[in-house]
Amino acid sequence: MIVFDLKCGGDHVFEAWFKSSGAYEEQRTQGLIACPFCGDVNVNKAVMAPAVAAKGNQAPDKPPVAPAAFKAALAAIAQLQAKQLETSTWVGGAFAEKARAMHLGDAPEAPIHGQATLAEAKSLVEDGVPVAPLLVPVVPPAARN
Ligand SMILES: [Zn+2]
Repeated sequence: MIVFDLKCGGDHVFEAWFKSSGAYEEQRTQGLIACPFCGDVNVNKAVMAPAVAAKGNQAPDKPPVAPAAFKAALAAIAQLQAKQLETSTWVGGAFAEKARAMHLGDAPEAPIHGQATLAEAKSLVEDGVPVAPLLVPVVPPAARN
C-alpha cells in the first residue's frame, strides 16, 4: 500500500491509499478518485511544503522574533535612554568640543549629549574620552540651536 496527499480542483487536500503508484494513476484517469469534501474527481498529487507535510495539521514554526516583541524591546530601550537624558544637557554640534574639555578638566563635568561626526567620535574614543553612541536617534531640540 502507498499513501498520497491529493488535491482536488477546489484546493481541498486529502490523503488516499492505493495498492501502488500505478493503481493511483489508473483510478485517477478513470475518475474513480473523488474529493471527500466536494466530490470533485479532478484530483492530482498535492505539492506540500516539507515542514507542513511532516507534521500534518500543525502550523509552521513561528519566526524567532515576532515584530511586536521587537517593537516592544525598542520602545523599552527608547524609554531607558530618555530617562538617562533627563539629567543630560543637549549641546548639539559642540558635543566633541565640550566632551574633550570636560575630559581635560577645562570644563566642569556634567552629563551631555549631542551630535558628533564619525571622525570626531573616533578621535574622542582614541583619546580615552568616555562617550557612547545613543541607541535611539534623538530629535535635536530646535530651541537650543
Ligand atoms: Zn474538493
